[in-house]
Amino acid sequence: MEKKRIVSGMRPTGKLHLGHIHGALNNWRSLQKDYQCFYFIADWHALTSEYEHPEIIKQTIKDNLIDWIAIGLDPEESVIFVQSSIKEHAELHLVFSMFTPLPWLERNPTYKEQLKAMPQRDLYTYGFLGYPVLQAADILMYKAHGVPVGEDQSAHVELTREIARRFNHLYSDIFPVPQTLLTPEARILGTDRRKMSNSYNNAIFISDSKEVIKTTVAGMITDPQRARRPDPGRPDYCNVFAFHELYTDKEKVREIEEGCRKATIGCVECKQIMASNLNKALEPLRERRKELEANPKIIEDIINEGNNKAREFARDTMEEVREVIRI
Ligand code: SF4
Repeated sequence: MEKKRIVSGMRPTGKLHLGHIHGALNNWRSLQKDYQCFYFIADWHALTSEYEHPEIIKQTIKDNLIDWIAIGLDPEESVIFVQSSIKEHAELHLVFSMFTPLPWLERNPTYKEQLKAMPQRDLYTYGFLGYPVLQAADILMYKAHGVPVGEDQSAHVELTREIARRFNHLYSDIFPVPQTLLTPEARILGTDRRKMSNSYNNAIFISDSKEVIKTTVAGMITDPQRARRPDPGRPDYCNVFAFHELYTDKEKVREIEEGCRKATIGCVECKQIMASNLNKALEPLRERRKELEANPKIIEDIINEGNNKAREFARDTMEEVREVIRI
């Protein structure tokens, strides 16, 4: 039986970090078993906020792709491509923008949040307001049945669903209405307990060296009430403990939990254990990264092949679209 299709993308605005692993990439990797996956580098989306510094985008695309492959996205299983290489996305975006009511975009909660979160950038642009329409084009182009997203992105998928319904109603029933596939893993926080993000300078990057990780973990904020070594701690309030739950074996986690509550383990030692376990988990990725960096042709070939497969699908979809809108 043919697998159902899913589509998801990532903006190349900086190096990838543990938040990307736990918020998306681990899930993307496991979805490959059950779905035909289209995963793309969303470079046009990056341009909506980085239009003054497009050089960031170009540098980042290759680096992000190396992380994707190192983590286990499989170009034999999934179509891995770069959005701007498939010009049909721009055409479908244009068609959708003709009938998408402005209030649908103005009420988008993440639009308002991002305007606030990035005050240093002028985001009062036509492109930024309309990025969910471009997302709808990205998703519907491949007639996706599902879209894997975190909870904070589910409003966008809802908008894509509305655009699909509106297109189907106005012209012809050619787009499946995609389902939201919520990412199961919890979001991992940054070293300062805010959302992990390149712009907050609180991220642990996939490409960080062992030494960098040791230093970064040593600086992590812990339970704010454990000011001195003899104070008992509260693992539930400590971000380091949240990392232990992901990277340390269960028995040791229980030992640390008890030790923290009874103040028999100090934060310095606790962080050293965590950094060492995190480094162990990242070691195979570092090795794979090194191989890919030494052989740039591997990534070039993956992209060329992925672009060709995506383009073929996109061309068919656009032929159907042009036919039903009679242009
Ligand atoms: S001992 Fe570990 S879990 Fe407890 S507060 Fe310190 S770093 Fe956090």
